[in-house]
Amino acid sequence: MNTKESISTYIDSKRDEMIADLAELIRIPSVMSAPTEGCPFGENNVKALKKAEDICQKYGFYTQNCDNYAISADLLDSAEKHLGILCHLDVVPEGNGWTKPPFELTAEDGKLFGRGAIDDKGPAIAAIYAIRCVKELGLPIDKNVRLILGTNEENGSADMEYYQKKESFPPLLFTPDGSYPLINIEKGMMRIRLSHPLGDKLVSISGGAMVNAVPENAKAEVRISAETVKNAAKDHSSDVKFDIKEENGAVFISAYGKSAHASTPELGVNALTALLALLADCGVDEAKAFSKLFPFGETDGTGCGIKCSDKESGAATTVLSIAEVSDGKLVCMQDIRFPVCESCKGILSKLEAAAKAVGIDIEPVMQSEPHHVPADSGFVRTLLKVYEDVTGEKGEPIAIGGGTYVHETENGVAFGAEFPGDENNMHGADEFITEKSLLLNAKIYANAIAALCGKDDSDV
Ligand SMILES: [Zn+2]
Repeated sequence: MNTKESISTYIDSKRDEMIADLAELIRIPSVMSAPTEGCPFGENNVKALKKAEDICQKYGFYTQNCDNYAISADLLDSAEKHLGILCHLDVVPEGNGWTKPPFELTAEDGKLFGRGAIDDKGPAIAAIYAIRCVKELGLPIDKNVRLILGTNEENGSADMEYYQKKESFPPLLFTPDGSYPLINIEKGMMRIRLSHPLGDKLVSISGGAMVNAVPENAKAEVRISAETVKNAAKDHSSDVKFDIKEENGAVFISAYGKSAHASTPELGVNALTALLALLADCGVDEAKAFSKLFPFGETDGTGCGIKCSDKESGAATTVLSIAEVSDGKLVCMQDIRFPVCESCKGILSKLEAAAKAVGIDIEPVMQSEPHHVPADSGFVRTLLKVYEDVTGEKGEPIAIGGGTYVHETENGVAFGAEFPGDENNMHGADEFITEKSLLLNAKIYANAIAALCGKDDSDV
């Protein structure tokens, strides 16, 4: 048997043990909670770390606890850091709508249900078994692989900020907390607060609840006759439904669109920009200013001056997401995702010029530069080759608008754990990973370790 076949046979033989270990992790509801002494993200997150540490020790890895923010587990105890695999053990709250117990593993029809099954406890188990496989098969390794398990990915990755103050990451790093084939580009991200003085027609307005989503509803109260608004609404898009009501002399407008994540705004229908366009047509000056920058139906930033794209990472996208009346101003929040050809500074100066021209003030509230690991690096090429060898599918690197666990690292890429077209209800009710995906992930990671940490590896 060659290495690939030995790995495949070994992982298949450990199926039941993998599922049992995953069940142990899913049983701990590691949702972030208030910090207590020695538990920076709550007691359950530390319990999850301890459980994972037990599992790693049971298989003979060398573990270290980083002050209950994260743990690491090394295959070799003396070799230099070389390859790192970064997963997280915290999960999002269970939410509503489950037909299975969220914090018990339920196996049914080849699916393993439970909060964290795909994000990211299942992939963490796959990584543990990949390392165990390399160890127990005695594959010829002389460079170390270090598994790093954190507990704050879902709430800002303060775990890794802390970890990086105490420890540096290995020179090669991937996270099984994204998608295959491999994510080597994560666009830059900015969040901007925009404001314009209020005129005398708009009383109140509300848009979406989240800055990183296309708002599906928006509402306003205006000092304009219902008839004027209804007439103006006749010329507006049929993608958005307007509801115009008069109650006790006050006129209310509701707009209904469709939500989407801010990294893919073209999939949504923005109720807020539709409402602003309607208000602009009714003579609301501050709405005119915002509509100039954010015309309804546009998501590439043309109106606000930031349109740009490059071949590798694609085009910039933007969403106007939240609106309110505050201190005599119309205040909105904007989310921007931009390609590697731009920087936060460049985007900001272009936006500032466009905003100034229509009397809007801007203030950045969050800025994160693009993350990029070259597609032609030996590391990326090796991982993609492993993916192709094990799955038989073509391995091309991909760019995304969202950020993964490695966004703030120097050199990390996301490699799995979702396969193209996979369904898994991530962050939703009845989250699951298929047994097949779990095993295939472990096989891919074991092959990756063999390829990157092997004795005759001169390529990387
Ligand atoms: Zn995750």
